[in-house]
Amino acid sequence: MEPATGLKEALLADRVNRISASPVAVIIQEADKYKARGVDVVDFGPGEPDFPTPDHIKRAAIKALDENRTKYTATPGIAPLRQAICDWHAAQLGSAYQPAECVVNTGGKHAVFNTVCALINSGDEVVVPAPYWVSYPDIVKYAGGTPVFLSTRAEDGFCLRAGDLEKALTPRTRMVIVNSPSNPTGAVIPRDEFAKILEVCKQRGVWLLSDECYSHFVYGDAKPFSVASLPGAKDRVIIAGSLSKTFAMTGWRMGYVLGPQELVSAIIKLQSQSTSNPTSISQYAALEALRGPMDSVTAMLAEYARRREHILAGLRAIPGISCPSPQGAFYVFPKVLAHCNPAMPNDTAVTRQLLEREHVAVVPGEAFGAPGYIRISYATSMERIEEGLRRLAHFFGQSK
Ligand code: PLP
Repeated sequence: MEPATGLKEALLADRVNRISASPVAVIIQEADKYKARGVDVVDFGPGEPDFPTPDHIKRAAIKALDENRTKYTATPGIAPLRQAICDWHAAQLGSAYQPAECVVNTGGKHAVFNTVCALINSGDEVVVPAPYWVSYPDIVKYAGGTPVFLSTRAEDGFCLRAGDLEKALTPRTRMVIVNSPSNPTGAVIPRDEFAKILEVCKQRGVWLLSDECYSHFVYGDAKPFSVASLPGAKDRVIIAGSLSKTFAMTGWRMGYVLGPQELVSAIIKLQSQSTSNPTSISQYAALEALRGPMDSVTAMLAEYARRREHILAGLRAIPGISCPSPQGAFYVFPKVLAHCNPAMPNDTAVTRQLLEREHVAVVPGEAFGAPGYIRISYATSMERIEEGLRRLAHFFGQSK
């Protein structure tokens, strides 16, 4: 990624020097260079729904504009939206929050960022199960904390196990960040395991930050689930939610935190000195998303399920590629290690050569703390998936 300024590192604050640009943004930028030259890139890079925002949500935003709802709002979001988030979360995911325990943020990433900044002191450890979403380690580092990576196992579907978590805790551990369904693996933590993880956190006095960005994209028999629905969860659990993926609203920047009132108040204070309120128009759109029909979510899920089947079958037909079945989200995470060789020694080299030779954009596993893998997003049309699979088969057919 291009440096943002010509400033030397020494001129910048330590907190900024501690973090790096998102590796996913780097891939997107690289792929965009090819696209700008007119190259037909199959873009499996972005974790972004290819569906438009549903019409009824767009109409609510237009109405908000027409009614001149374009001024500052309360810092934590308009009162009806905080209520709607609590109501929606209760109805869909079985929690019981009040508006005072809810703050609206500028996207799910902002929800995680604010929570970590409000709770983590310099020297605190935060357990980050790997493979992890790229932003967690950098957000923890920005806050002055130390990310402690805890590997999960491919043969276990990359699911976090309470027993492993327990072993990773030290007296300095202050938080564990879980993401189920997971980006990048699609792993879903079963309810019983979540209950055990919560128990470990309660016993050891550790915050359990649960990023529910993909809660509604689960396959097979799995149902959307929130750890906040478990008895006794509310004292230890913090929910980071996002409307970006569930309602195909990535550009609207709508997320939220549900958690203990003192924490929510601290986040509101932090927000009052940084972003202030999230965009007023987006808030009215979000209100409609949460109060309106969920049909579009059901339709998107059905289409993701169809693509998931197709891409899994296509990848597994390529010799040397193994791919666990993701239980949620819209990513597959195949292992490509068998195709590495001296000319293409790791997954980053695989990613680079795939883009150069076949014009297929994927994200290297190294970015997620999982060398030897690549992440493929199937939030793209079936026709592009077909074309991408054809190119992947050609590429890996030649690399053996
Ligand atoms: N959490 C996870 C696991 C994600 O994959 C993403 C986006 O890719 C986010 C949070 C942030 O979503 P947003 O800030 O767009 O709401």
